[in-house]
Amino acid sequence: MGKTVIIGGVAAGAGCAARLRRLDEGAEIVLLERGPYISYANCGLPYYVGNVIQSKDALLVTKEETLRERFRVDVRTRNEVTSIDRKQKKILVTDLAANRAYEESYDKLVIATGSSPVRPRIPGIDSDRIFTLWTVPDAEKIRSMASDSQNKKAVVVGGGFIGLETAENLRKEGLQVSIVEALDQVMAPFDREMAMLLEENIRENGVELYLSDGVASFRTEDRTVFVRLSSGREISADFVILSIGVRPNSQLAVQAGLKCNERGGICVDEQLRTSDPDIYAAGDVIEVNDPVFGEKTMIPLAGPANRQARIVADNIAGGQERYRGTQGASVARVFDLTAASVGAGEKKLIRRGMVRGRDYEKVVISQNSHAGYYPGALPLIIKLLFSPDGKKIFGAQIVGGDGADKRIDTIGTVMQMGGGIAELKNLELAYAPPYSSAKDPVNMAAFAAENVIRKLVSFAEWDDPKPDSGEMILDVREEAERLAWAPKESVNIPLGQLRGRLEELDRKQHYIVLCAVGVRAYTAARILLQHGFDHIKVYPGGARLYRSFH
Ligand code: FAD
Repeated sequence: MGKTVIIGGVAAGAGCAARLRRLDEGAEIVLLERGPYISYANCGLPYYVGNVIQSKDALLVTKEETLRERFRVDVRTRNEVTSIDRKQKKILVTDLAANRAYEESYDKLVIATGSSPVRPRIPGIDSDRIFTLWTVPDAEKIRSMASDSQNKKAVVVGGGFIGLETAENLRKEGLQVSIVEALDQVMAPFDREMAMLLEENIRENGVELYLSDGVASFRTEDRTVFVRLSSGREISADFVILSIGVRPNSQLAVQAGLKCNERGGICVDEQLRTSDPDIYAAGDVIEVNDPVFGEKTMIPLAGPANRQARIVADNIAGGQERYRGTQGASVARVFDLTAASVGAGEKKLIRRGMVRGRDYEKVVISQNSHAGYYPGALPLIIKLLFSPDGKKIFGAQIVGGDGADKRIDTIGTVMQMGGGIAELKNLELAYAPPYSSAKDPVNMAAFAAENVIRKLVSFAEWDDPKPDSGEMILDVREEAERLAWAPKESVNIPLGQLRGRLEELDRKQHYIVLCAVGVRAYTAARILLQHGFDHIKVYPGGARLYRSFH
């Protein structure tokens, strides 16, 4: 097979090298990594900062020696590739330790250079108290800042999953933490109402959240960084973590004239070959296919990077493996909650000009993570987006307690297999009280979706009733339940009394029926609809969500 040179030695690079060796004992494999470590757990870095992962060694998944000795890979850390000469099939490398440049030839080249955190030209950003969390040395620096008892306050700029995981871990270390986010919500891929559930929990954990307020400038005086926001407000901190997105490390590819997209992502074919058939690329640096809409996108996640690495190795070894695309299945713990998503959110559907009822439908349900009678059940809020005929699932988002990850994976798997609501409804899923309910939350979401498709029910929006809409809340909970909390204006008829008290309701009035989680409201809606009330909607997710959103 000849000589394969791999640029980048972490998720995609190291994985590709190991697989290639397993496939071909005779291959010459060179792995070049500009940093001091290969194959480390970037995903574990926030937990190292928070001392949940105590030893740095635990982050080093495969050590340099292992790859060298067990896999006979010529590993060279602190070696940065600076250019690619495609004609001569050579690369130029700088040995950073020896400060020496040298050339290396290749038969096949793999670009697995990943991505880097964005550091925009904001005034004052070059302070030595402003960090990004991307590598093991970054994590070490931040951990030592967090454990220094003189440091009491931190600001995290950016409310994406890495920013939130870092904020959680800094908080755990006893710091006062503020999160600054330019958008009007955290976790941008999530829809607004799902993000609001996370924001509520973040605040409950004592973190200050500044939304719709980007950073205008930084100013460092002695040990303090003053963060001025676009609103004019100023927050002070002992140090700042910047976590505002990533860009692909594709400069080498661009300079070598390989085809890249407008965001810098390297364009690859299904076999992960670049526009030069002797050069492959994998991981955060490539453009991928989004199977939901069949369009190109960039999704920097560890699972795809690892699977792509395997495909590249297989193909270099003579295989014909194809990468099918990235749906963006992801999960993150955000303080006490889990946030998981797959596919497209409603925001994305709307951006594409899609209209609810015409082009897509949705349900939001609130279900316990396992049988309510078994201790420890926690709510899972599931949002499912699908075509009006139910044949296609566009995406799902889940916020809640344990089991959010397995539910998002279940939905994502059905999506990957081309299934729709019928397939989701008919899934046979394992059940015992500590783990699930006999009607698994995934089945329940599909049941609700089927009811929408069959027009048995229609759901209100999370921010309904809107001011001056004339809609009225009909609360079908028991009076005792309303003692704890009730909407400001509502009519109350407990479900058990509804059939006998229909005459108290106005048939011309538009009602939004509310209960604790949505199940009784659905039953009430069915009663009302069958008794000639035409303007009935159910509030999705019940009082649990209504309280959070109003
Ligand atoms: P990387 O792992 O970034 O590796 C690329 C390597 O290439 C780098 O080490 C870089 O130094 C090297 N390199 C770049 N240019 C050169 C050059 N010119 N010469 C030599 N070497 C070079 N994903 C998830 O799915 N789940 C998570 O929970 C999750 N958490 C994360 C938490 C953090 C803090 C971070 C930083 C990332 C997280 N990710 C997570 C993302 C995930 O780590 C990446 O998607 C994955 O590592 C991408 O793999 P990669 O091999 O493409 O890039």
